[in-house]
Amino acid sequence: MRTIRRVCVFCGSADGNRPGIHDLADALGRLFAERQVGLVYGGAQIGVMGRLADAVIDAGGEVIGVIPGGLFSREVPHENLTELRVVDGMHDRKTTMYELADGFIALPGGYGTLDELFEAATWNQLRLHTPRKPITLLDDDGFWTPLFTLLDSMVEVGFVKPAGRRLLQRASTAEEALGQLAAYEFDA
Ligand code: AMP
Repeated sequence: MRTIRRVCVFCGSADGNRPGIHDLADALGRLFAERQVGLVYGGAQIGVMGRLADAVIDAGGEVIGVIPGGLFSREVPHENLTELRVVDGMHDRKTTMYELADGFIALPGGYGTLDELFEAATWNQLRLHTPRKPITLLDDDGFWTPLFTLLDSMVEVGFVKPAGRRLLQRASTAEEALGQLAAYEFDA
């Protein structure tokens, strides 16, 4: 079992139109505060991102936001974070978020969420995270099902190795997601 002190969460900068996703973000945020697991995220106050950060803060937990300085005018940073790190650009943001976290959770989101999720997974494959960091996709309404169907087909067609496929775990509750991050064992 690894100790999970901080988790970086990738999730939508939009609200989406399924209220259940907000409930799941609330539950994850409360659990982080309760277990004293710090949240690392993109620093926004909007969408599922803002909802998650609010849930952690309201429950008395730690939140570190990482936001690119150049986008300040477009990305409105959350005002009540424990810490806001302003970095030089999108690449620095991702590197900083990865370095701060012991593992990753992806809640539902769009292109940005997928970009971060697959970069984090690729870095595990290439062993660029030191140590490698576990990843779990969290949904309770089937949001990630088409993605896992695609991953299975990528394995079948020979573009993803079974060990690579195993890098992306899936959970349907916040407790299960945190448990998976702590228990995950990487292949040698
Ligand atoms: P998306 O899934 O396209 O909404 O992008 C969300 C992900 O990309 C988050 O995990 C953020 O790290 C990053 N991101 C994209 N847009 C924003 C934004 N307006 N403010 C802060 N972070 C963002």
